[in-house]
Parts: sequence; C-alpha cells; structure tokens
Amino acid sequence: MEVRSMHFKRRAHAALGDGTLQANLQKFGTAGLAALRARAVDAYGHAEFERLRDAGAEIRDRSLATLDTLIERFEREATRRGATVLFARTRAEARELVLEICRRHGLTKAVKSKSMLSEEAGLNDALAEAGITPVETDLGEYIIQLAGEAPSHIIAPAVHKSKDEVADLFERFHDQPRKTDIPEMTREAREALRRHFVSADLGISGANFLIAETGSGVIVTNEGNGRMVTTLPRVHVAITGIEKVIPTLEDLSTLLRLLTRSATGQPISNYVSFFTGPKAAADRDGPEHMYFVLVDGGRTNLVGSDMQAMLRCIRCGACMNHCPVYKTVGGHAYGWVYPGPMGSVLTPSYVGLENALDLPHAATLCNQCGVVCPVRIPLPDLLRKLREKQVDRGLRPWTERLGLRLWAWAAQRPQIYALGTWWAARYLRFLGGGLKRITRLPLAGRGWTLTRDFPAPPGKTFRELYAKRRRG
Ligand code: SF4
Repeated sequence: MEVRSMHFKRRAHAALGDGTLQANLQKFGTAGLAALRARAVDAYGHAEFERLRDAGAEIRDRSLATLDTLIERFEREATRRGATVLFARTRAEARELVLEICRRHGLTKAVKSKSMLSEEAGLNDALAEAGITPVETDLGEYIIQLAGEAPSHIIAPAVHKSKDEVADLFERFHDQPRKTDIPEMTREAREALRRHFVSADLGISGANFLIAETGSGVIVTNEGNGRMVTTLPRVHVAITGIEKVIPTLEDLSTLLRLLTRSATGQPISNYVSFFTGPKAAADRDGPEHMYFVLVDGGRTNLVGSDMQAMLRCIRCGACMNHCPVYKTVGGHAYGWVYPGPMGSVLTPSYVGLENALDLPHAATLCNQCGVVCPVRIPLPDLLRKLREKQVDRGLRPWTERLGLRLWAWAAQRPQIYALGTWWAARYLRFLGGGLKRITRLPLAGRGWTLTRDFPAPPGKTFRELYAKRRRG
C-alpha cells in the first residue's frame, strides 16, 4: 500500500469537512467499541484485568527478548509438521515470495482473510498484476475492496462507510435488487463470497499469533471466513510479521483473553482457528500445501531500540477506539495501513520518520491509548520520543525549531523568561479586546483559530498571581 502519511494534515482537514464521513464516524461510534470494552472489563473485574495486562506485557516482552530463538523454534516445529517457512526482509520480498508460490502451484484465484501485513506489502495489487484474482472475505475488507479503498480501522476496516453506501456498492457489484436490511445484506455478501470460497485455489491469511512450541498459526475472527480461507483452497499462505511469535499455547490463552476483550468486548471471538501444517492423510479437509511467510519489514530495527515496546502490539484497535484524534478524522487521514496512536508510532518506525512527519503530532497525548492498551505500550511516551527524534534530526520546520531554541534559551534565564511572559500575557489580552477571545493568533497557523476562538489570557502571568498570593 502506498505511503501517504506525509499529507496527514491535508487529509485530516478534508476529513473534517466531509459531512458524510463525520456522520459515519459518529454513528459507528468507535465509542461503541470503547463501551463494549469497558463493559467487558467491568465483568472481568478491574483489578483482575490489570493483572492480565501485566501478564500480557510480560509475555510480549519475554517473546521479544528471545525473538531469534523463538523464530528458529517456530520454523523447526512448523517444518516438522509439513509447512514451509519462508522469510522476507522487505515487503517487496514478501510480495515476490507469494507470487513465486502462485507460479509454482499454478494458482489463479486467492481468497483472503484479514492480514495487515498483506496491506503493508500491497499484495492485492501485486496479485492482480500477475493475473491472480484476490478476493477479500472479511465482510469489512470485502466492502472496501468493492469500493477500491483502504481499510480505515484495523478490526473494522469499513467503519467509515454508512449502510446506504454499502447498499449502493452491493447493488452495483452483486447484480441484485438494492437491500438495506443488514441481515439481508450480509446474507447476500455471504452468497457472493461462497462462490469464491469454492472456486479459489489459494487461501491467504494473516496470523494473530504464531506458537513456537507447536509451529502453529492462530487467527481470531467473528465471521468464520478465516476458517474457510485456511482449509478450503489447496494452498494456504499465512503472511505475518516476525514479531508475532510467542512461546507456548499457555501464553496464547492469556493473550487471547486480552485481545478479544480489548477489541470488541467479547470474552472470546466467535472463531479461534489454528493451522498447523497442511492436511494430513487422516484429515478430511485442509490445504495440500501450507506456507508461512514471515516478514521483517522494519521490525528488527525496533528490536533493542527505545521503540521496542511497540512490537508488543497485538492489533486489538483499542487505542484508536479511544483516541479523540482518530475518532474525529477517521483512519484514512493517517495515510497508511495503521491508523490511530499505534499507527502514529508504527508508520514512522516502518516507513521512516521523514515520510510521516505529522503523525507523531497527530495526538493530544491525553494517554487514553496508554490506559487501554492491553499490553501496556506507553504510546504517548513513544510519540514524544519520535517528536524528539524529529527535532534532533532537523526534520521539523525551521520556524518551529527556531521558536523552540528561543524558548529554551529564555527558559534558562528566569528574568528574561518572566519579562517575555509578562509582555506576552498583556499583548494577548489586548488582542482579545472586549470579547476576550482571539480570532487570529500572530505567528501561529490559521488552524488554531479557524473553527474556534482562542480564549485570551486574563493579562497576568502565573508568576505574578503566585507572587501576589504569597504577599497576601
Ligand atoms: S497499541 Fe495496544 S491498544 Fe493499540 S492496537 Fe496495539 S495492542 Fe491494541
């Protein structure tokens, strides 16, 4: 998928002015998922859930600390059970490996269950160019594939679409009378997808986790499409990031309890599917050939760095469901595969800080994301670190860097700082006039005051008020 994260501000601006999108975002209410999570945590018990979060973070840290040996063990066990494990250093290599598998087995049609790595690698376009038809089978992914769009949420990819927009798409592509009843629409999509399931020769899935002790991949879904993708076609390719390996099934049981409650508020998802090698002689169904494509794509750069905690991510989406910025502008504004706070850290880390300049700033640092993250990723801290790196590397606009330097110089000289703030407080009060609101801030972008007035300060600095109080 093309990286368009450089244009976050422009896209966010467009999203704010898009009435349909705003209505859709409000209607879906990422708040809906947030409320479901809150109910699930209530039911589980807050103290108990906090302990579960500790355990989840510990498992992910332990896995990352021994990632190399875990990957080797996973490869050994998966190979012993008949799967082929392939490694890709880059997203381009991952694409090439999948295409090579298609050529080797003469494959022509792929049914896919959700895989963020395949989005990262732009796999659908590569397959289509090679003459292989990719069909997304997760309902949300299917909708956006029909619309020719990218996912806007990692677990609810079509959250930006209204029911009417989906009804229009189905009418156009299914050659059926337009329906607006959701169960009927779902049935229609299911019928359309059934034809693809039985005619596809390749199944492509992601993996929520890879289990080192058994060489298995695990996916959680609510629609059952993952199970069809991984068992019906004669070849199955699971494509995922190398950081997904965890040691044992016991660890999986802890992480699953966290993942589904944090994502959709469910104690467990409708389907938890394991795939361990191809069909055995005694199996009634399953693929004849099974491949794991494990992709680095920038992940090893984070191992051992001050950003390593981000690799704990189990892709639950809770951070975006609670993020005021995501809830206002939606996922497309972030310009790549991962939106919300996790995307604002992952995107610059994977595609380069210089290609995603605004993302570390696309946050209020309110720490809602940090509070809900099931594996305790300190997202605001990581965003701050990225901001620091931008300043260190001279990637911020010269005006901002000059302003910060001036501020730092003054902040180290209390008398000058006091004089500056004394002057600024009075000047801003003057600008506010009788209304006590500033409609245009000098030296600041128009965005600060375009849709709201800036409250004018009362005219005295904190230092003055504090000194007066002490005197009193
Ligand atoms: S960063 Fe945390 S909250 Fe966000 S998707 Fe990853 S695990 Fe979930």
